[in-house]
Amino acid sequence: TLKASNGYAPLNDDFDNFYVRRLKMRLDDCFARPTTGVPGRFITLMDRKSTDFNRSYQFTGTYTQTLNVSSYNYLGFAQSEGPCAEAVEECVRKYGLSTCSPRGDAGTTDLALEVEREIAQFVGKPAAMVFSMGFVTNAGSFPALVSKGCLILSDELNHASIRIGARMSGAVIRSFKHNDIEDLERMLREAISQGQPRTHRPWKKILVAVEGLYSMEGTMVDLPSIVALKKKYKFFLYVDEAHSVGALGRRGRGVCDYFNVDPAEVDILMGTLTKSFGANGGYVAAEKHIIDKLKSTNAATLLGESPAPSVLMQILASLRIITGELVPGQGEERLQRIAFNSRYLRLGLKRLGYIVYGHDDSPIIPIMLYHPAKIAAFSHEMLKRKISVVVVGYPATPLISSRARFCVSAAHNKEDMDRVLAACDVVGDILQLKYSTGVAGGA
Ligand code: PMP
Repeated sequence: TLKASNGYAPLNDDFDNFYVRRLKMRLDDCFARPTTGVPGRFITLMDRKSTDFNRSYQFTGTYTQTLNVSSYNYLGFAQSEGPCAEAVEECVRKYGLSTCSPRGDAGTTDLALEVEREIAQFVGKPAAMVFSMGFVTNAGSFPALVSKGCLILSDELNHASIRIGARMSGAVIRSFKHNDIEDLERMLREAISQGQPRTHRPWKKILVAVEGLYSMEGTMVDLPSIVALKKKYKFFLYVDEAHSVGALGRRGRGVCDYFNVDPAEVDILMGTLTKSFGANGGYVAAEKHIIDKLKSTNAATLLGESPAPSVLMQILASLRIITGELVPGQGEERLQRIAFNSRYLRLGLKRLGYIVYGHDDSPIIPIMLYHPAKIAAFSHEMLKRKISVVVVGYPATPLISSRARFCVSAAHNKEDMDRVLAACDVVGDILQLKYSTGVAGGA
């Protein structure tokens, strides 16, 4: 039991804590264990054993290599060999590991400027800015874009970094139903004074914030419909492409590329560099005057450490592989592989009888477990078959909407996908997860 150090209620005495503590004891034993080595096609886990009733764990001194469908390594750039690794190695020798300074002081390297120029070009915006963390890119950018007197309309499933950034801005925040264009339009109509749809009164600015691809659902934003609404209601649009840049679109340039929408229609294209680029950090791409303002007012970069040079080199090298500049044809090949693997695994899981969430082209593939007791069990059964998969439950999802989430990568091949499907076939029977009657032929 918890003890209250102040004589009243313990600081963490609430339902969330009760639930999370109880469940966490079991969840700690899931896939979420220390890893070692590259989170690539395979991932190596540290083996451990429970030492007491409260499930404290001890490293047993052995390791297990598992097939990795748990990392956001969409294009397979998380690797320790090949052209990216060579470029990074050379970079460390030239630049060392850290700039030991924020951007505002001596932390702006020539590499940072190069990355910003190439990212802007890649996503189709005039300018861009890099940050040392994806989370901070959102958390730091909203307060630089909107303030008190502004309105943010945010998809209810937006990532915590967006919600925290929005809160820190001081703007009023309203959430619309996930991916529900009618609900968004209803809110816009309500927000804008009657008869004056082209002004933002009584709001200084209205900013609509969405994600390109939602990582808990595998759903994709309905960008064409939001852009149509934007033309009608004249709001500003912020799209977080953490999971879509590199992973979606014919040329891997994200949701604008996927839907053939002109990037000029989106005011802010934000993304992280931790997923498709196998690096670290985030970026914001926009008109030059917006980037200039972000650079001069964003506390996170003015006062926080700049991205490490070696990380910037990883971004440059992977970006140049995607565009075909560094290794002709390899980018295209990676994009084709992730697209094939995503559709193949999704369809296979549906055929087995799983309830699969999300868009057909999403490389994030959530299957529904529903019952919280099945979270740890599914993870265990997959681990027994040497497959690492992320399992998710409350509070990240509603209480009875627990799920497992496969992250497909260009580093995988068809054989890997077949191995996941064979394991899911058996585990689905053991845990009674085949809730649907299956799909004959189609998606
Ligand atoms: N935005 C979204 C939509 C995310 O899913 C995440 C993290 N997965 C972030 C921002 C934060 O990025 P990072 O992990 O690179 O800090």
